[in-house]
Amino acid sequence: MKNLDFVIIGGGPAGYTAAVRAAQQGRSVTLFEKADLGGVCLNRGCIPTKAAVEVARVVRESLHAGAVLPQQKDLWNTVKKRVRDAVETDLKGIERLLKNYEVEIRREKVQFVNEKAVGAPSGEYSFQHCLIATGTSPWTPEKIHSEEAWTEETWLQMESLPESCIVIGGGVAGCEIAFVLQALGVQVTLVEMAPQILPFVPADIAGTLERELKKQKVRVIKNFRVERVEGKNGEMHISGSGETLTAKGAILALGRQPCTAELNLEKAGVETSEDGFIVINSSMQTSNPHIYAAGDITGPPFLAHRAYHQAIIAAENACGTATTNTGIFPYAVFTEPEAAGFITPEVQLSGLANVKVPVRVLGRAHASGKLGGEVKILYEETSHRIRGIYLISHGASEIISALYPAFVKGLFLEDLAYAPLSHPTFSEVLREAALKALGVPHHAL
Ligand SMILES: Cc1cc2nc3c(=O)[nH]c(=O)nc-3n(C[C@H](O)[C@H](O)[C@H](O)COP(=O)(O)OP(=O)(O)OC[C@H]3O[C@@H](n4cnc5c(N)ncnc54)[C@H](O)[C@@H]3O)c2cc1C
Repeated sequence: MKNLDFVIIGGGPAGYTAAVRAAQQGRSVTLFEKADLGGVCLNRGCIPTKAAVEVARVVRESLHAGAVLPQQKDLWNTVKKRVRDAVETDLKGIERLLKNYEVEIRREKVQFVNEKAVGAPSGEYSFQHCLIATGTSPWTPEKIHSEEAWTEETWLQMESLPESCIVIGGGVAGCEIAFVLQALGVQVTLVEMAPQILPFVPADIAGTLERELKKQKVRVIKNFRVERVEGKNGEMHISGSGETLTAKGAILALGRQPCTAELNLEKAGVETSEDGFIVINSSMQTSNPHIYAAGDITGPPFLAHRAYHQAIIAAENACGTATTNTGIFPYAVFTEPEAAGFITPEVQLSGLANVKVPVRVLGRAHASGKLGGEVKILYEETSHRIRGIYLISHGASEIISALYPAFVKGLFLEDLAYAPLSHPTFSEVLREAALKALGVPHHAL
């Protein structure tokens, strides 16, 4: 058995980030990856979908400006080329990064053989520390599974675009896919089992994004529990809730399941939760003190920036230095307009006052023709500390990200109300909302 120092399983955002941080602290790192470096995020998730979203936005803007667009098949080829170029370039960046830090990359599947060793086709390796970062895969219940349906990870492989498509699942991925396909001329139906799309945001905010998607001609059906997905004679039939919907294509975006089946976790003494995700403490340590876990494998929310954050905490703790885990993460839905905000533990949101202002009060919204959206701010009535922000607007993901440090440290209505934010910008809607909450609205009524 060969002795290794720091072993990482999985080369996605969590795995490669931990590799870099451990190497920066003088550790000798070996990273096992069974498929592609960059994981879901780079190869089938964040980056490919955002490349597609960017093309969809340009198409919408161009139509708005009266431009004559290329044929749909050429637009789809443009999407695919953009995706390919972005993935190839970013992959080279990750490879360069890992090489720079002398991380040994082993292209093989690995599993535990005991509490301090892993096994791969090339042999068995003991470790001082190990990080599990094996992520998740699409979750589809047995009876819904259909070979003819695409998933949130495969839809960009479609040869050509269907005339119509049913996207099953109104979460982040489902909304983004619906936005892209509708912009490219596909007749889209978005189906959601819950009474609202985006189940993790307040119902009124989800309703605002739903209205924006409907304005773009996406058909949205809620309270629809899909029971069967079947391909027949070139059509997809989606049955459930006493009804059958039909379209030329179907995409399943139902949720994620942990990639632990092949790891032999019981041999390593690593505990999992009831739904199969790895249980960790605030240092990202598992029930085996030599083994850490980070990223999607630790459960929801499934976000690449959470994976980065957890990976740094895990690597630093394994190396004897500590980093704080804030437990608050921003979310973003990359549609147009975008939806973004902070995922705050629900218990911290009860009993708060709230204020709402629509984006259309802004000069910038009228100048750019992007009038859709609103902001909702939740705050403590007495102290004025802001506890929740939900924004739907053009550029919302950038605005919310930039606000993160202030939000976590302590952001008050007065901080926003008296901030001379650049004019005209979409960020100004935050100041308008704070002024309104203080009873001195500027443009909002
Ligand atoms: C369609 C879609 C869009 C998304 N968009 C966004 C977005 O815009 N923003 C955002 O923040 N998040 C987004 N996400 C989520 C994001 O992709 C994940 O949160 C992120 O990839 C998690 O990183 P990870 O390192 O934990 O796992 P992964 O990226 O899943 O990487 C795990 C890696 O481990 C490898 N592996 C698994 N088992 C083994 C084994 N036994 N041996 C060796 N290697 C193994 C896998 O091959 C994989 O490469 C999106 C996801 C999807 C599906």
